[in-house]
Amino acid sequence: MPSLLSAVPILIVLTLCYALLCAASPYGTCRKCEGWGHAIVRARRSGRLKRGRQCRRCSGYGTRLRVGRRLYNGVTRLHHDGTR
Ligand SMILES: [Zn+2]
Repeated sequence: MPSLLSAVPILIVLTLCYALLCAASPYGTCRKCEGWGHAIVRARRSGRLKRGRQCRRCSGYGTRLRVGRRLYNGVTRLHHDGTR
């Protein structure tokens, strides 16, 4: 049985990779509209794909702030407010 201690270096590497990803590209694609910024609906008669209503989650931008970046922004704001 592998001990929990052997998984610690892997977890550290994964965390570092995620931190690098958040630093390199803080925005990910919106999970609700998958980056389209709006819903895709099929027209009733013609059956063509049409642009639906704007995505409420990302308000049409198609991107979202990554969780790690949101955490970093919160910590930075807290530090800024605390050391003024
Ligand atoms: Zn969206």
